[in-house]
Amino acid sequence: MTRIEKILHSAIEEKKKGCDTMKLLFFSDSHGRFHLPDTEVDALFLLGDIDYYELRHIDKEINCPKFGVLGNHDGFDYFHGTSIVNLHEQLVSFQEITLAGFQGCPVYKRNKSFGQHTEEEVYSFTATLPPVDIFISHANPQLNPSVDNENPHRGFLSFTEYIETKQPKIFAHGHLHESDVVSIGNTSLLSVYPHTLFTY
Ligand SMILES: [Zn+2]
Ligand SMILES: [Zn+2]
Repeated sequence: MTRIEKILHSAIEEKKKGCDTMKLLFFSDSHGRFHLPDTEVDALFLLGDIDYYELRHIDKEINCPKFGVLGNHDGFDYFHGTSIVNLHEQLVSFQEITLAGFQGCPVYKRNKSFGQHTEEEVYSFTATLPPVDIFISHANPQLNPSVDNENPHRGFLSFTEYIETKQPKIFAHGHLHESDVVSIGNTSLLSVYPHTLFTY
């Protein structure tokens, strides 16, 4: 079994014990190439770089609470006219769970366009953010400090610091086009591509 399968397997075992759990589906970076799996979930999290028309298709077809952040390949209006709650720089409550999010990725073009953010912009949000249950972002936390400063995948140090000091239960991001789950202390760090099902 892969690590993700083990986590899903243990989540299913928990459910069998009669625990009150929620099925959360995370989806990211489809770039118009992937569709959402056809499955019943309690909440859907969209992590950016999802095609404009795919977002509208998902909004019409999937009937559950939907939350999202935009990616560096998206336009500012991609969530407009949908029921997707944009979590960028927001702190919201959902069924006794707290959620927050941050869109985009580190600046990698000289002319900073939509979806590109500086470390300072991220820090101004995360520095005062209390610990949340689920934090979603498009970009990854910076776990490798040696990556070069033009690399769009270098991640944000502010995310790493938030994870280490505030320990959200889940920190889920896209952008890397890699599927992975690791633990950092009590935080489950999910790298989502294109989808991850997580039982909470
Ligand atoms: Zn992408
Ligand atoms: Zn991206």
